[in-house]
Amino acid sequence: MIRPPILLVATAACAVMLGGVLPGTLQAQSPASATAPAPGMPVPPPSPAQPAAPAATPGAAPVPQPPAVPAPPVRVFNPAELSKRTPLAEAPNWSRLADLSKTMTAEEFDLAWSTFFSDGRNEPPPWKRDAAGITVPTGTSDGSTVRVEFRTAGDPLNQPKRTWRTASELPPLQGKPVLTGLRIALDPGHIGGSFAKVEERFFTMNPKDPTEFIAEGDHVLTVAQLLKPRLEALGAIVSLVRDKQEPVTSQRPADMRSTAIDILHQNGHTNPPESYVGLPAFQKMNTIQWESEKLFYRVSEIRARAQKVNTELKPDLVICMHLNAAPWGEAGEQVFSLENHLHLLVNGCYAPEELRMQDTRFEMLHRLFSRMHEEELPIATAVAKSMSQSTGLPPFVYVTPNAKLVSETGYVYARNLLANRLYECPVIYLEPFVMNNEDVYHRLLQGPYTGRTLTNGRLRSSIYEDYAQGIIDGLVNYYRSKRK
Ligand SMILES: [Zn+2]
Repeated sequence: MIRPPILLVATAACAVMLGGVLPGTLQAQSPASATAPAPGMPVPPPSPAQPAAPAATPGAAPVPQPPAVPAPPVRVFNPAELSKRTPLAEAPNWSRLADLSKTMTAEEFDLAWSTFFSDGRNEPPPWKRDAAGITVPTGTSDGSTVRVEFRTAGDPLNQPKRTWRTASELPPLQGKPVLTGLRIALDPGHIGGSFAKVEERFFTMNPKDPTEFIAEGDHVLTVAQLLKPRLEALGAIVSLVRDKQEPVTSQRPADMRSTAIDILHQNGHTNPPESYVGLPAFQKMNTIQWESEKLFYRVSEIRARAQKVNTELKPDLVICMHLNAAPWGEAGEQVFSLENHLHLLVNGCYAPEELRMQDTRFEMLHRLFSRMHEEELPIATAVAKSMSQSTGLPPFVYVTPNAKLVSETGYVYARNLLANRLYECPVIYLEPFVMNNEDVYHRLLQGPYTGRTLTNGRLRSSIYEDYAQGIIDGLVNYYRSKRK
């Protein structure tokens, strides 16, 4: 069947698609939970919160300043408010958080919370902080809590147990290539191939020509495959979290059916239709088929990747690779977007509503006390600088409260996504290029090539080359500056 040329999604859409909270469960509270329309359905115009204009010039973004640490607000939460979990999440193993006692001082905790992990709304977090530590409700019906003590002068250093290493913890180079021994997992976003339509990560300006079908998952996999041998030549040990146009999860939408029905019921849809085929666009999101597919490609898939990363690959760094997209317009009236920009994400900027979820609360605090952000930000900053040079792209500027600028480069934001929350190591999440920008679209259709070729009147390297080289240069710069 020929589908109309479309692309779905709001700006910064990839990140939206992988967000930590499912649309429908917290719609009213979470602006990150925007939902993409179904294949073939018209795309609504961007909301006022989504920038439609080209991004600002590089360097224009203000330098973030850590806010003064306010006295922690206090609020008594109803235990039921803190008991829910995000879809498909298991109960956290809270003893892993308790094990991180005495790893961080009160001042370090407050700075990490205010600078990275809070979304700045200064609403009471769902834990009690006192001078000696924090007491965190686990969300279970017995009202149990977990205590994490702050480190004080004279305490013996409690080194967190973890599988990833900072740059300074890697073995001395002794003249070897600069990435020697570094374990990198490349995570090409989405699934691609025959799943691109279900996961809504494709577009075309010419639906009658299959050679003009662009699936995001396929193109980022190409970049990862280009990158792997080059990083290995620099000494890195490189794995691909996904290495083909197939899901990592063994589950499929049919396996998600009962969970989908539960979610629809919770959202007030007591008798949801089975299929969205033939339904008007505004009704599709309330069908069992839509919800099941979303749980498959957005939740089950990311959870399966996290399992692989955390238990099998155990890397020092994950690089999540995406392409961005801009609002696309009505089906049948497509025009190319003038937007083209770059940004990188690190984990942080949690909404108060998100932290009321058991699993999210645990994962955020586990990341904070494990100090993953302390490694993530400088790596992301180094890669942002080199990617801005290799791509020539200006920074995307968020105007929504779900992301917070955390780097003076103007390119790096903190944001809570399922992938960068679940992978238990530093994660940088890349969003270069707007796929439905005319120049990007034609460069993606050109495919990879070596050297330079005439494109749009200029001799240029391939778009894949620019993507890969930006990552390589940033990693080389960072690890060269930090390794012994
Ligand atoms: Zn994406």
